[in-house]
Amino acid sequence: MTTIRLVQGDITRESVDAIVNAANSSLLGGGGVDGAIHRRGGPEILAECRKLRASHYGKGLRVGQAVATTAGKLDARWVIHTVGPRFTPEEDRSELLASCYRESLRVADELGARTVAFPAVSAGIYGWPMEDAARIAVETVRATETAVEEVRFVLFDEKAYDAFARHVS
Ligand code: ADP
Repeated sequence: MTTIRLVQGDITRESVDAIVNAANSSLLGGGGVDGAIHRRGGPEILAECRKLRASHYGKGLRVGQAVATTAGKLDARWVIHTVGPRFTPEEDRSELLASCYRESLRVADELGARTVAFPAVSAGIYGWPMEDAARIAVETVRATETAVEEVRFVLFDEKAYDAFARHVS
């Protein structure tokens, strides 16, 4: 049984086995939570991301996929980078967003991570409406078989926290 916990705050401050990063395909850093993770985690994370680009991910990480690196100076063992879909009203990309959560948990299982913190993937720069992003996140985690014991959604502001809380209760 995976326990879902909600926390309002900065995900880079969480003590968990793995922190999930809402990255972009380049894996080379960006704004939002991605920028915060690299700033606080230090250059080791980016160095591993560059190695991944040079080896298996020449074209970048595909939307809906996930890959792990060291967590550098963060109080976690790993960062799991996943690429959320950009929101567009013309096309339903919910399945890709669900895939981010499933694939991140699959990678967490491979690593042996027992506690995993997620931000609201795609709900910032990528424009996904928070309410729907929260629903997909919670439903997908609940439906995924994993050895992860605790999934902690770390929401940056009250609006995000409240949206997740509506779907958890
Ligand atoms: P995306 O490009 O996938 O939309 P963003 O990083 O822009 O990713 O935003 C995803 C969510 O993460 C947004 O709700 C944003 O407010 C939130 N966020 C930004 N910085 C942090 C942080 N340090 N900790 C937790 N959540 C954060």
